[in-house]
Amino acid sequence: MITCKSSREIDKMRTSGRVTARALHKLKAAVAPGVTTFEIDRYAEELIRGDGGTPAFLGYHGFSGSICTSVNDEVVHGIPGKRRLQQGDLLKIDIGSCVDGWFSDMACTVAVGTVDPYAQRLIDVTAEALERGIGEVRAGAHLSDIGHAVQTFVEGESFSVVRALVGHGIGLSLHEEPAVPNYGRKGTGPMLKAGMVLAIEPMVNAGTWKVRTQADKWTVVTGDGGLSAHFEHTVAVLEDGCEILTALDAAAARVYSPAARHDDTGGELGAPETFGRIQAVG
Ligand code: MG
Repeated sequence: MITCKSSREIDKMRTSGRVTARALHKLKAAVAPGVTTFEIDRYAEELIRGDGGTPAFLGYHGFSGSICTSVNDEVVHGIPGKRRLQQGDLLKIDIGSCVDGWFSDMACTVAVGTVDPYAQRLIDVTAEALERGIGEVRAGAHLSDIGHAVQTFVEGESFSVVRALVGHGIGLSLHEEPAVPNYGRKGTGPMLKAGMVLAIEPMVNAGTWKVRTQADKWTVVTGDGGLSAHFEHTVAVLEDGCEILTALDAAAARVYSPAARHDDTGGELGAPETFGRIQAVG
């Protein structure tokens, strides 16, 4: 069952989302050559707890970190450890918080120092894929419109979307219905309703979309050893768009769906300048 959250519940999820966003913002600034993924994980826990939350991933099915740190060909679910980041690495940080029982989930890909132009393009395309997926969200849209927008854009840029892992609903549990694939046919699947909250998270590979899980039973890597990037936001469905609950502040949070604008007769829904601003957040 896909639950719809009340405005009071969404207020609580926004509080959780801000804790996650503030922590990730500071973590990004701490990423540098020579830093270990364990050090980033320790800092993440300190930031989340210092801001009134608990790390959502710590202990989840036995996971040992507060965040997931996945480097280069590692797609998601990397376990923080002794690995020292090197100039040119792509680090994916996936982070979640729980505040007052409500979860938020967010991810971004950080370039360690300067990365080569191809890797930078992979990062930029994945960030824009998330933006395009979020741009589809509004009451009355179909769930698959999100994945269709992500897949069409990514494949048009000659990269691939991971199929085996998907986004998800979120609320009082970290993972709720529905599954939110990054692929699909437009106009299919459940219809979105105001109050649904989704974690949208394109995982984009430079080469094959196929992935495999390493012997540690957590770390998912690309099937061909190529690079992968990942961005994620927790978003609440609204009548005319959505609110990014994991935005750093209110100014960056509100997104008006271009489709909703087109449905309108040209009235007040406008504000297209708020669409396309989310990259600065992630
Ligand atoms: Mg997630």
